[in-house]
Amino acid sequence: MQTWQQQLQQAFKTPQALLTYLEIPNVATSICPTSHDQFMTKVPMSFAKRMQKNNLNDPLLKQVLPITAEQKHFSDYVVDPLQEKQFNHIPGLLHKYHGRILITLTGTCAINCRYCFRRHFDYQNNNIGQAKWQNIFDYIQQNSDIEEVILSGGDPLMVPDNTLHKFTEKLAQLNQIKTLRIHTRLPIVLPARIDDSFVHWTKQQPFKLVIVVHSNHPNEINDEVALAMQRLSNITLLNQSVLLKEINDAPSILATLSRKLFAINILPYYLHQLDKVQGTQHFAVTDQQALQIHQQLQALLPGYLVPRLVKEIPGEKNKTILLR
Ligand SMILES: *Cc1c(COP(=O)(O)O)cnc(C)c1O
Ligand code: SF4
Repeated sequence: MQTWQQQLQQAFKTPQALLTYLEIPNVATSICPTSHDQFMTKVPMSFAKRMQKNNLNDPLLKQVLPITAEQKHFSDYVVDPLQEKQFNHIPGLLHKYHGRILITLTGTCAINCRYCFRRHFDYQNNNIGQAKWQNIFDYIQQNSDIEEVILSGGDPLMVPDNTLHKFTEKLAQLNQIKTLRIHTRLPIVLPARIDDSFVHWTKQQPFKLVIVVHSNHPNEINDEVALAMQRLSNITLLNQSVLLKEINDAPSILATLSRKLFAINILPYYLHQLDKVQGTQHFAVTDQQALQIHQQLQALLPGYLVPRLVKEIPGEKNKTILLR
């Protein structure tokens, strides 16, 4: 069995390699080299294995294949739709919401999702090496309302366990943080990340641990993911999805996703409306459609399996729940 780091190294890094593996002839596609250059293709084999061969419309493939549609510009799709720069008090730290701060330990991910805001984010200037951690700890101490630290990204589980360990050891010394939340797509796209060493780390934490995974489609949940999640049974597990046109914009797909998540102890948390990021307009579902899909989803599922439909509106003190 390969380690997660080895699997990462061997991830597909060109659209051609991925399509060859999927037995899709190049001529059948609208691959765009410019899109790939702007935001490199990156797909672990573990995730690619869950795609259907010879199907250009596979819902997992569509999330990761760089296509020409990304090059079309729309005036309302911008580089920083959340205007987060103003909340970026110190590099790697976002304090927008009461009681919780978001920290970016790394800018990288195991997979590059085409709809992601990260495609334009300036991680060069936001990369907090360990040398700058103290700035973050100082900030937390100066803001006594902060009780929850959210590790986000990039993908925080891209950092090695000994780095995580060093970070949380220092964080624990502040005696202020009750909850540590990790937003990560790795347990879904690279389940090997949940190895003995990581499980050991989770068991040592003095905080209430919450892991929010990111899965958009039921085909992403397979036995490998189930086994990984089983190892985290001592942790609160939640999922967030992004509503994506022609990928998961159907109540039946989202209902199946919720049921499959619940079967492996993950509760649906958020269903996000896409942020208006340049190059992602082809993934957008209108608010009206989103509300309709969400309403139909409610009719299919018990309340606890219905994710909250949310949208991030710059300047709001929390994520905004979309209502009819
Ligand atoms: C989403 C988000 C959070 C967490 O919000 P919850 O509603 O608690 O899940 C915190 N900080 C930032 C900047 C966020 O975007
Ligand atoms: S931050 Fe999440 S959505 Fe964005 S590329 Fe990384 S894994 Fe994908």
